[in-house]
Amino acid sequence: MNHNSPRPIAGGIAADGLYWDALEAGEFRLPRCAGCGRWTWPAHWRCGECGSWDFDWTALQPKGVVYSWTRTWYAFDRTRERAGDVPYVVVLVEIDGADGARVMGVLAGDEAALKIGAPVAGTILAPSQKAKGYPSIVWSVQ
Ligand SMILES: [Zn+2]
Repeated sequence: MNHNSPRPIAGGIAADGLYWDALEAGEFRLPRCAGCGRWTWPAHWRCGECGSWDFDWTALQPKGVVYSWTRTWYAFDRTRERAGDVPYVVVLVEIDGADGARVMGVLAGDEAALKIGAPVAGTILAPSQKAKGYPSIVWSVQ
């Protein structure tokens, strides 16, 4: 699939354009190999399992469990837009039913039940200055 993202990630391979397009449309989609069915995230141009070049960008419920998390205590140069949010928590979420694919995002809401393995659900946010013009997904412990 050839897709020219209007949002190239610095240092990225630009295979994730459809992720951002879907998120902006309010949908959570990840690439699934059309050849063998394996979920692949981060996005690649080619399936690491069977070598296929074809992916179906399949809609999923933005639900999973916390694989890992960290608290940011400092407004780093590349994230100055979030200086007013410090400290904030970023979670790495293992998506339910997606071969262990993990998606990152900021944690919203109550942190009392935050722990590795905690169930979370995502909410899609429209593109914003804070997210450098990208749509984003924030996660809440369920
Ligand atoms: Zn495959």
